[in-house]
Amino acid sequence: SDRLLTASRRAEDADAALRPKSLDEFVGQKAARDNLRVFIEAARRRGDALDHVLFFGPPGLGKTTLAQIIAKEMGAGFRATSGPVIAKSGDLAALLTNLEDGDVLFIDEIHRLQPAVEEVLYPAMEDRALDLMIGEGPSARSVRIDLPRFTLVGATTRQGLITTPLRDRFGIPVRLQFYSVEELEQVVSRAARLLDLPISKDGAMEVARRSRGTPRIAGRLLRRVRDFAHVAGHDIVDAAAADNALNRLEVDALGLDAMDRRYLHMIADIYRGGPVGVETLAAGLSEPRDTIEEVVEPYLIQLGLIARTARGRCLNSRGWKHLGLNPPPEAGQ
Ligand code: ADP
Repeated sequence: SDRLLTASRRAEDADAALRPKSLDEFVGQKAARDNLRVFIEAARRRGDALDHVLFFGPPGLGKTTLAQIIAKEMGAGFRATSGPVIAKSGDLAALLTNLEDGDVLFIDEIHRLQPAVEEVLYPAMEDRALDLMIGEGPSARSVRIDLPRFTLVGATTRQGLITTPLRDRFGIPVRLQFYSVEELEQVVSRAARLLDLPISKDGAMEVARRSRGTPRIAGRLLRRVRDFAHVAGHDIVDAAAADNALNRLEVDALGLDAMDRRYLHMIADIYRGGPVGVETLAAGLSEPRDTIEEVVEPYLIQLGLIARTARGRCLNSRGWKHLGLNPPPEAGQ
């Protein structure tokens, strides 16, 4: 799928340019930021590594950015990898033994680690040790190798995806929330400054309102708005210019894109408002179930357009209204 609003990391380089570099520069997530500040300060005073941190929340909300900021504020090195990339336990062992004292090791999509790989993490996280098996059969023995002090920062889209033994080994679990329009306005204005793009407060608000509560999407939309503004010869992006560009990108007033609308229409038009199972929706939309659950639905739920129920997904009255449709009479709530 090629969604403009997908918060997945494709434009990695573009993202990197807009990344805040300190907790002070990082907009929003106030509770998480305030707590992290305390834990970082305390660890620094003790001269110890920060306890392991688990970030969970939808893509594009700043998990990678915060992991980098933690390293920077701890004065530590930063290494990044991701769950699906680590194929064998030996790969993880190699990574861990190459860490330097105090390093932050960031594992994105940590819920996608192979079980055998995950088991290597347990003693590493708990005892800073690696248990290696040497040899095979009756002569096999296990040796324990000490690891340098390190902080594991894991990221996952939903807390429920990660196994309990792994989750329990993170001292600092942090849930990231969708950003408010006001916070995203700050993200957009800051990004515009970095991109040397004059934008009015109204213009930034318009982009913010339509960014699905997600900084990565705000950055991406801002770049496209910039393209339209440049070609149209505007020297400043105001609300009208932003609105015009976003309409042409088919991003609607709530920030929903074609994929969101296809999803909502499928529930409305084919399943009369639901309930309908997520597998059925995924098949009908030719999208992986994970994408539906982790990328599409969280924001629609946040907006109150749909509900996840035990029997499946249902369109709420706000959802019907957004589509400009009336619910069938018997669905009536
Ligand atoms: P995640 O790891 O959760 O998918 P990232 O940390 O990669 O998200 O963030 C995506 C992009 O969004 C970053 O490159 C950065 O430009 C921007 N971003 C994220 N959070 C913030 C924030 N709080 N303030 C400003 N920009 C942000």
